[in-house]
Amino acid sequence: MKPAPFTYIAASSLDQALSLKAEYGEEARFLAGGQSLIPAMNFRLARPAVLIDLNGVADLAGIDRSGGETIRVGAMTRYRAMERDQPFLKACPLFADALPHIAHPQIRNRGTIGGNLSHADPASELPAIATAMQARMKISSSRGERELEASEFFAGLLTTSLEADEMLTAIVLPTPKPRSGSCFLEVARRRGDFALAGVAAVVTLDDQGRCEGARLALCGVGDTPVDASDAAASLVGQRCTEQTIEAVAADVQKAIDPPGNVHASADYQRHIAGVLTRRALAAAHERVVHA
Ligand SMILES: Cc1cc2nc3c(=O)[nH]c(=O)nc-3n(C[C@H](O)[C@H](O)[C@H](O)COP(=O)(O)OP(=O)(O)OC[C@H]3O[C@@H](n4cnc5c(N)ncnc54)[C@H](O)[C@@H]3O)c2cc1C
Repeated sequence: MKPAPFTYIAASSLDQALSLKAEYGEEARFLAGGQSLIPAMNFRLARPAVLIDLNGVADLAGIDRSGGETIRVGAMTRYRAMERDQPFLKACPLFADALPHIAHPQIRNRGTIGGNLSHADPASELPAIATAMQARMKISSSRGERELEASEFFAGLLTTSLEADEMLTAIVLPTPKPRSGSCFLEVARRRGDFALAGVAAVVTLDDQGRCEGARLALCGVGDTPVDASDAAASLVGQRCTEQTIEAVAADVQKAIDPPGNVHASADYQRHIAGVLTRRALAAAHERVVHA
């Protein structure tokens, strides 16, 4: 398949890209890695009149660890750059777990974190991880800048809260607190496929080994990444035992409303969400204990 005709403009600066988006609005799309946009255009599911290519805007790529308690990842940072950055993976171990599950090496060579999050596929790994880590989204337009929490950014199926003239420019990740452990697990039919369900878990322990905080987010089981941290709150003040973790998994199964799809019924998705929650919380806890 070939895309419908479009005008291609290679932006050379952030200001130019933003003023083009302000000019063309909904008619224009940013081109990042092209790994979701170009297939959608080839299938004529997307027909932008104008493509604004961000690949020449150097300031949009890169990982900045100079922020102390936060790490800033530029929107045009490719999966491959994150996978190869050992200090980044050490600081954000959920990414170390999740990146190998995303598609295949060829796609990870091109795909970007900003394109992934802006595409807002609910089955994708990184929106769930951004939600579990309470990432903040840096957004720019010719009108100015604003910041949204991950939970505010994902507005619905393949839909974000970005306005027609706005760009996601960076993602700010808080580094995990001391005595924290995390784990991302998913079930997919084949390696590289989108997840039927996935769970990102973060557990923080106090000096006595009791749970001080827990975050949980799921992919593949709703229209957006699902923040299930309320279900995990029952762990706070408790030890992470088989029983306390099992209670959280049961609450997650009650809280979610998976859509089901051609590969998995809603009941099966609910079942694996429970199993993955149990395993991810247990592994996150083990990782603190054995750190
Ligand atoms: C075979 C295959 C398997 C895949 N498997 C997985 C998988 O298992 N898990 C997974 O998560 N993904 C998977 N993907 C999707 C892949 O991860 C894409 O790379 C990603 O979703 C989009 O990133 P991109 O940089 O390629 O964005 P693009 O395709 O260039 O853009 C995606 C959308 O975001 C918009 N956009 C891009 N950058 C910005 C920005 N900075 N601000 C605002 N809007 C922006 C674009 O206009 C477009 O609408 C798969 C893709 C393929 C082809």
